[in-house]
Parts: sequence; structure tokens; C-alpha cells
Amino acid sequence: MTVAHAAELIRTARSGLALTGAGVSAESGIPTFRGEGGLWTQYDPIKVASIEYFLADPSAYWKVSKDRGRVALAARPNGGHYALAALETSGRLVAVVTQNTDGLHQDSSTRNVIELHGSGRHVQCLDCGNREARSEVQARLDVEMPPRCRLCGGGFLKPTVVLFGEPLPKAAIQQALTLARQADVMLVVGSSLVVYPAADIPAVAVRSGAQLIVINAEPTPFDELAAVVVRGKSGEVLPEIVALIDG
Ligand code: NAD
Ligand code: ZN
Repeated sequence: MTVAHAAELIRTARSGLALTGAGVSAESGIPTFRGEGGLWTQYDPIKVASIEYFLADPSAYWKVSKDRGRVALAARPNGGHYALAALETSGRLVAVVTQNTDGLHQDSSTRNVIELHGSGRHVQCLDCGNREARSEVQARLDVEMPPRCRLCGGGFLKPTVVLFGEPLPKAAIQQALTLARQADVMLVVGSSLVVYPAADIPAVAVRSGAQLIVINAEPTPFDELAAVVVRGKSGEVLPEIVALIDG
């Protein structure tokens, strides 16, 4: 039983670390980029999610972002997010490193969330650096496209997410790599593991001796390094694991 094996490894973890990708939020109604039904079958990713494209045409970026923002702001955590929070509370996980920008790990009360790709909950002015809540900007997108800074009166506002062509936040990646080196169990959930340097995290953990568990709807390039691969939906598999540990 692969789920039972995963539960047993996590039950005895002392410095477990989780890495999550878009798949963990799929059951909350937020489309993934890759994978079946993923957004990248509809848009060219490099076009709509790169800094060059944003700077060249902020309106075009915001037109796509407007719809995605509405969905993400209305989304609620699912059983997978809550199960990870429970594993942190019971001391099996020291942190959840995420590639997601939706804030759903924080909403499910996970305390130590390391965001590798920033947060979609805020926007920042490219001229003066002023930050505003995304929810407030979202409310005025119908009448203001692209949205501009209210403080300096003119700068373009950009979501505080890492776009293609932008560097990852150094502190977050360093903290994640340090925890990966110390991890005895590395749990990867809902990530296609093809985006670097995020995929370096499980690579470093395995090199440092961690047991790797992959929970994903589709195969990943890391499956052959894993002690356990569970093919399934994280919103179902993770609560099952918690129930086995608690039971
Ligand atoms: P990805 O979209 O490349 O891959 C998602 C993976 O999740 C796929 O392999 C898919 O098979 C799997 N999956 C889909 N539904 C699942 C489910 N219910 N349970 C388990 N697995 C499931 O995601 P990525 O690897 O995270 O990389 C894309 C980048 O796009 C991310 O780094 C992130 O910054 C951004 N993104 C964020 C969000 C979000 O914040 N929710 C959503 C889409 C994309
Ligand atoms: Zn400004």
C-alpha cells in the first residue's frame, strides 16, 4: 500500500519538509499551468507571465490576470492544505515551501510558509514601490485598465509574484535549501517539478539523505528517486495520510 508507506515515513519524520505546486490548489478551483486542463493549453506562458511582456503591454497582462485574480481571491483551502497544516502542527513538517502565489497555505493556518514565487495577494508600484492589497485593485479593474498607483499617481502596478525573467526572492530560496539539506523526509505535492530552481529543493534533500515522497496526478521527473510515489489527487491523498497517522 503506497499511501500507508507514505504515512509511515511521515509519521516518524523529525525534520520533514513539504514542497507544493499548483496541483495542491487545483481542487480549490485554481487551474494549474501544466498538466491536464492546465492553463498553458490556453495561453503561451512565456507571453502572459514574463516581465518583458508585462513591461511591453501591462494592459494585456492585466486582462488575463483579472480573471485569474477573481478565481484565486475567491478560492478557499481544500483538504490537502488543511492536512499539511495538521502535519506541521503535529511536528512532522517544519515548513511548507510553495511555488503557489494564492496564499491558501496561510489561510489553512500553516505557520511556516516559504513562498518561492511571491504572493498574488498584493501589488506593487514599479515607480515608487508602494504596495496595495490585490483585492482592492481587483475591485477597480473594470474601470481602470491597466491599474495605476494611487500614491504617486502614475506608476504601473504589478502583482508581487515572480514572473518569468525575474529573480526568485533570495532569502526564500536559501531558507528552503537549508531546510532541504536538514530534511529526513521530503514531501512533494502537486508540482510537475520541471521549474528550476524550485525543483532543486527535492534534489538537494535526496542528495542529503532524505526519503522522497511524491504525490502528484501525473508522473514527474523525480519519481524514480522517490521512496514512495502516490498517483492521485492531493485533496484526497493527504487527508488519508493524516487519518492513517492519527488512527
Ligand atoms: P504546474 O502547473 O507546472 O504542475 C502542476 C502539477 O500538479 C501537474 O503535474 C499536475 O499533474 C498536478 N496536479 C493537478 N491536479 C492535481 C491534484 N488535484 N492533486 C495532485 N496533483 C495535481 O505547477 P508548478 O509545478 O507549481 O509550476 C507552475 C508555476 O506557476 C508555479 O511555480 C506557480 O508559481 C505558478 N502557478 C501558481 C498557481 C497558484 O498559486 N495556485 C496556479 C498555477 C500556476
Ligand atoms: Zn507609485
